[in-house]
Amino acid sequence: MKLEAAQLASRIKQEVQAEIEKMVNKRGARPCLAAVRVGEDPASAVYVRNKIRACEEVGIRSELQALPESTNTSELLNLIASLNEREDVDGILTQLPLPAAIDEIAIIEALDPAKDVDGFHPVNAGKLAMGRPVFVPCTPAGIIELLDDNRIEIRGANACVVGRSQIVGRPMAQLLLQRDATVTICHSRTRDLAAVTRTADLLVVAIGRAGFIGRDHIKPGATVIDVGMNKVSDVHAVRSLFVGEADKRLEVVAKRGYTLVGDVHPAEASEVAGMLTPVPGGVGLLTVAMLMKNTLKAASLRRR
Ligand code: NAP
Repeated sequence: MKLEAAQLASRIKQEVQAEIEKMVNKRGARPCLAAVRVGEDPASAVYVRNKIRACEEVGIRSELQALPESTNTSELLNLIASLNEREDVDGILTQLPLPAAIDEIAIIEALDPAKDVDGFHPVNAGKLAMGRPVFVPCTPAGIIELLDDNRIEIRGANACVVGRSQIVGRPMAQLLLQRDATVTICHSRTRDLAAVTRTADLLVVAIGRAGFIGRDHIKPGATVIDVGMNKVSDVHAVRSLFVGEADKRLEVVAKRGYTLVGDVHPAEASEVAGMLTPVPGGVGLLTVAMLMKNTLKAASLRRR
């Protein structure tokens, strides 16, 4: 069964919109999200555009700070400092990855944790690790909403998270642990990955390798959450990944030059998994919705 996320994502945005209208009626000022993008990475430009469009949908004021590729760490730190100080800015998002010359960790650590709507600052990561979350990274937070919305039991489940990035894998594992799952975290050095992932009732994959997790990695009936977003344009690869649905995907490739594929092999996984999130149409939609929710939360906490 496909675990689609579109309806849930639009419901979350509607709820945020209703709360924002209440806030505006009560206090006058609209919440404001400042989006910072550095350089010309086309994928980052698309992500930021989608986030700004979502702000417009829910009634959050947004401000785009698009800086040239040549920006250095201290210039970006100055911008972050000024956004931290501005009373009218409730949330700051810095689109990652930043150009290689910029010290990404220094930038994340410079954010005011109260405006860190991506939940990447060490204070927010630490609070999550202590079981007292304030701002949780949007992708794993959205996955929890999706599981709850579909009444998929987390408590007591054997959960396996493949990938240990700061933005997905680690916070995902923390959230599942907080919800009483028994959590295993896998990564590129895990021995016999398939033997470990096959024990999971709940398998979350965030590794950035198109179609890597196949039938041998999945326990029959497991819930599989595919976080990956990889561009694939090779015709043979598309045919082997999508089999019966390959023609539709090849039309997309002909139109756009690529199709989006997750980290899970869609055709193989659908033979064994109980539930599977599609790519696109799955986790990605929730990430933006949760960013809106975090921005509303930042504004509510700051204006209390
Ligand atoms: P990342 O920072 O590149 O981390 C990848 C992780 O996967 C690392 O922990 C790495 O292990 C592990 N890994 C790589 N190859 C592996 C293998 N063969 N076997 C087991 N583990 C392996 O990735 P990320 O930022 O978390 O992103 C992962 C994917 O999710 C990407 O496709 C990205 O585009 C997508 N993504 C989607 C959304 C969304 O909204 N849908 C949001 C964020 C990310 P090591 O630590 O040992 O190197």
